[in-house]
Amino acid sequence: MQNYEFSLEFNPDIIQHIYSLIKEDPAYTPRFFRSGMLQMEQALQAINDTRAMRIGPGIIDQVGELFQKQFPHSKAMVVADTNTFPIAGKQVEESLMRAGVVVEEHVIYEGKNLHANFDTMGVLLDRLQQLPVEVIPIAVGAGTLNDLTKLAAHLSGRHYMVVPTAASNGGYTAYGAAIRMNGIKQSFPCPGPQAVLADTDIIIHAPAELNQSGYADLLAKMTAGADWILADWMGIDHINEKAWKMSQNGYHETMMSVERIMAGEPIDERKNIEKMMEGLLLSGLAMQVVKSDLPSSGAEHQLTGIWEMERAVSGKDKIAHGKLLSIALLSVTAVYNKLLAFPLDEELDVKKCVKEWPTLEAYERKAHEALSKVGLQKLGMQVAMSNYVTPEKLSIELQQLKEYWPEVRDRLAQQIIPVRQLYDILKLGRMPTRPIEAGISWEHVRQTLECVPYLSKRFNVMSLAARTGYLTAWLDDLFTKTKKFETL
Ligand SMILES: [Zn+2]
Repeated sequence: MQNYEFSLEFNPDIIQHIYSLIKEDPAYTPRFFRSGMLQMEQALQAINDTRAMRIGPGIIDQVGELFQKQFPHSKAMVVADTNTFPIAGKQVEESLMRAGVVVEEHVIYEGKNLHANFDTMGVLLDRLQQLPVEVIPIAVGAGTLNDLTKLAAHLSGRHYMVVPTAASNGGYTAYGAAIRMNGIKQSFPCPGPQAVLADTDIIIHAPAELNQSGYADLLAKMTAGADWILADWMGIDHINEKAWKMSQNGYHETMMSVERIMAGEPIDERKNIEKMMEGLLLSGLAMQVVKSDLPSSGAEHQLTGIWEMERAVSGKDKIAHGKLLSIALLSVTAVYNKLLAFPLDEELDVKKCVKEWPTLEAYERKAHEALSKVGLQKLGMQVAMSNYVTPEKLSIELQQLKEYWPEVRDRLAQQIIPVRQLYDILKLGRMPTRPIEAGISWEHVRQTLECVPYLSKRFNVMSLAARTGYLTAWLDDLFTKTKKFETL
């Protein structure tokens, strides 16, 4: 999952850009640009967009038959890249032709350095706009190709299908596409795929880096879920039970299989990939239910997002999402461990917190200082300023937190594992467990954690640490004295 908290509202130039694109197609109504309208659209789409989902070994031959069922009287067009076309795209076309589906000339991107950005998406959008709406695109690839196709299909007024080639993220079936514009990754609201067919014989051969990202994304449901619990208690983002079950079931399945492997059970790679894919697709469906990435994205994805953006802004090479996420997960889990060991209900002094809370001017200075350390003082200030909480609001929030803390803590304690245990699990998945393995210094992890409360549009454990006034003390404790996750 790659989602960011920078929403469209903060980027009027992007909205302008999309408007100019869509103006050329008067049949299309850009309904999602005003937040009020978005809710109406959400209500209309309360039912999942995805109607068919198949996962299994050697099922690529079934694409044609599934397509016929889901899109009768339609034509198909494969969207792939130079890596995925030879390993799956060609077979998809053959299967379609065998089933009697008319296949349009495919769109094949250059696989090397393919980015999910607006210009790349525009190439596909132009092509689709020239074709009748009966032509249904089939994305054959991993997250990037899926996101490009998802948005282009939506903007050209049609559904789409996806054939994932890696168990790399939960975004396949998610509501929304993560597309970069002007250096910032945006989550564009648009429906998930109507049909998904995942052949595990293909996925098992995906580059290790991609499947590792999926592994980290599944584990991220731990902290994402914990942040959702917090936000729910604070009365900010209520837990939707249906979405919660969908996404957390996948996580618990993963944890159970990890435990079995740790206990010495032989590794059944095929079964693992299948379970992983299922867990990831379920996350996406959970996101369809709540029309946001709440079920699978919390402070750990915020942190990862900042590192990804920082690299993009400074023109540095991309580091695999899973690698960064692995370090982010350890960092956020460490903060959670700290919080859970702290008797907030007894120690929290609400009056003192409110008294020491910065004025808007002081907050602006502090935000600028923190964001400068990660080079996001220009891109991030607008979001940071919108996150300012007034002392009155803070007082109510903290009183509530103090009162309910024993209950909240108990629920969180069931969700969060000790950082040491997470360290072992990540090691098992051959994921980085030291910041330097993901190209980040220990000091920089801390600097970025300090930015999360400013940049996160959602309430999470870092917002809680900042609002209770313990952020600096906890980070000092975690990141100055100890420099190893395994000993935290
Ligand atoms: Zn992710």
